Parts: sequence; C-alpha cells; structure tokens
Amino acid sequence: MALFSNRFDRADDPLFPFRVRATFILLSLAVLASITSWLILLRGGTINATDLYLLPIIAVIGVAGMVWLALDSRRVGAVLAVWLGAVATYELLDLHGSFVVVMRATNLLGYGTVWFMVVTIAAFIALPPRRALLFSLGYNALAVVINVAAFSSGIRGDQFNGVLQFHAANIAALVVLWALSQLQMRYAQVERLSSVDSLTGLLNRRSFQTRLIRTEGVYSVVMFDIDFFKRVNDTHGHAFGDLVLREVAATLTNHAPPDSSLARWGGEEFMLLLPGVSALDARVKAAQLCEAVLSARPGGTEITLSAGVAQYKSGEQSDATLERADEALYRVKNTGRNRATVIE
Ligand code: GH3
Ligand code: MG
Ligand code: MG
Repeated sequence: MALFSNRFDRADDPLFPFRVRATFILLSLAVLASITSWLILLRGGTINATDLYLLPIIAVIGVAGMVWLALDSRRVGAVLAVWLGAVATYELLDLHGSFVVVMRATNLLGYGTVWFMVVTIAAFIALPPRRALLFSLGYNALAVVINVAAFSSGIRGDQFNGVLQFHAANIAALVVLWALSQLQMRYAQVERLSSVDSLTGLLNRRSFQTRLIRTEGVYSVVMFDIDFFKRVNDTHGHAFGDLVLREVAATLTNHAPPDSSLARWGGEEFMLLLPGVSALDARVKAAQLCEAVLSARPGGTEITLSAGVAQYKSGEQSDATLERADEALYRVKNTGRNRATVIE
C-alpha cells in the first residue's frame, strides 16, 4: 500500500511522510468521533439539522479520504482540503448555534465550542505551516464574522466578554501553533541536512550506516567507484568534476530499485544497499547500473564505474560485509576496471 511504503517525499516539506501518517490517524479519529456523537445525539432525540446531516457526511468523507490516502499518499493535500473544508463548515455552523442560540438563552458558550480549536490544531499537524496558517486565519476570521453578524443587533457586557475570550483564546492557540510549526520545520531541515550529501543529494555515509544496521535478513551491498576520476578533474577542472558526480548520482538514483538505499560513500565512491537481494542478483543489478551511467554520458563524457559486491552473512557485523565489497572493488580495479564483481 502506498501509505506504508517509503516512496513518498517532498523536497519542500521534510515532515511530509510524518504528515501522511498523522493525517491517516486524524481521519480515523474524526470518523470515530463523528459517528459516535451522531449516534448519541440521535438516541438523545435532541439532534439538530446540522448534526443530523453533516456528521454522517463528515464520517463518509473521512473514510473516503483514508482510502484515497492509502492508495496514493502523494494526494494528502487534496484529501485534507476536502476533509478540513467539511469539518470547518460543520464547526462554523455549530458555532453559530452555540453562540447565538445557546448564549441568548443561557448566557453561556455552548458545549460545542470546545471543539472549535481542534480544527486549527489538525490543520497545523496535517498541512505545511504556511498553508495551515492561511487556512486557520480564514477559519477564525469567518468565526469572527459569524459572531459579529449574530450580535449585530446588540450584545450584553457578559456576552461580549464570553465571545471576546473565545476568539482571543483561539487566536492565541493559532499563534502558538505557528511558532511550534516553525521550530519543527527548522529541526526537520537540520536533520535532513545532516543525513544527506550536499553535492549529490544522496544519503551520506552516516545515514547509510544507520540504515544498514537496521536492515534485517538477506541483503547485498555494492560499492561503486568512478574509474580514473582524477583525470576528469585534471582535464576539465574541479567544477566540471562536481557536475559529473551529480549526474552519476542522478543516473544511479533513477536506475536503482525502489526499495534500495543509495549513498555517497566518499569522494567519487557510491554505496548501494539492496535488501532481500543475493550477491549474484546484486552483481547483475550493479552491471546494469554501470551500463546506465556509461549510456547517460555524465557531463557529455564517457564515464565507467567499477563495482564490488558482497552479501551479508548471517551473524556478522555489517562492517565485515562492507569490507568484502571494498575488497571486491579493489580486485576489479586491479584487473582492468569497468565491471562488477562479487566476493562471497
Ligand atoms: P581509480 O580508477 O583508481 O579509481 O582512479 P581515480 O582517479 O578515480 O581515483 P583517485 O582515488 O586517484 O582519485 C579520486 C579523485 O576524486 C581525486 C579527487 O580530487 C576527486 N574527488 C574527490 N571528491 C571530489 C569532489 O567532491 N569533487 C570533485 N570534483 N572531485 C573529487
Ligand atoms: Mg576512489
Ligand atoms: Mg576512482
């Protein structure tokens, strides 16, 4: 299922994978809450038109959103726009009832108003900060307009105090959530910077090693090294060498299997982790990748790679597997380059 694969990512939102999962949880809680309150209100016999029609609609939209998200997790923005729109409409209609009807009769805020803030909180969890800010500013502004219109014919001092405190508390929550979301984004950006290689955008050595340690069962690693790369630098300059490195990285990324991990291991060395793949199949894959780089002509030049392959042996340290891949690579370098070989 798309939701549970690690194939979704957004360059502009480092928290995107988290948002997809969080949205799934929020939708399921909202479905549960709307069905439960609908049933309770229906049994109590005091259900109003808003609750009677909108609560089941929100539940249906929530379930549809969950299915949609499970099938295609890149659509989280669209799923949320529909769902938050429906919930915000419900809250604003309910707010009208809570203030105008209940307050006129009892001088108190209706119980429903405690839910108002939850929509703002959900928006800041599920949407990137700017969109969450715009959405919740609009949502709160509409609430103010509704109350100004409702009490346009006059408001008593105690009612004014209640309405004012309600809106002030909601705006305060919005500001706090905005500040928290900024902190969170900065933290996530720093975390991302510390795990990728800045030249190529691939994983760096440290995060690759973390991934390797977490990998269980059968897996193979491939260590690639560009042949005679020093000559590329010497002939065309260091900036051109950087361009070649970026293009080699992009070609490897485009041809690597979806569940693999690719890292820049050192200067002109790359490391590929192939979960569930034996050494012999990994060698075939490595040869295909070398071929792909040759055909891609990074920087318009002929670039060949040498590759060393090794399969993890049950019970050994992952460093031992890497050492065998390095040994295999060394062997290729000493016997002509431009190939992949395996050390069992
Ligand atoms: P071999 O086929 O034996 O691997 O030869 P080679 O020339 O590729 O290997 P060597 O280790 O002699 O040289 C690697 C070169 O890679 C030297 C270094 O200047 C270059 N290099 C390492 N990191 C970078 C980088 O970030 N950018 C550029 N442009 N060059 C780099
Ligand atoms: Mg090297
Ligand atoms: Mg080299």
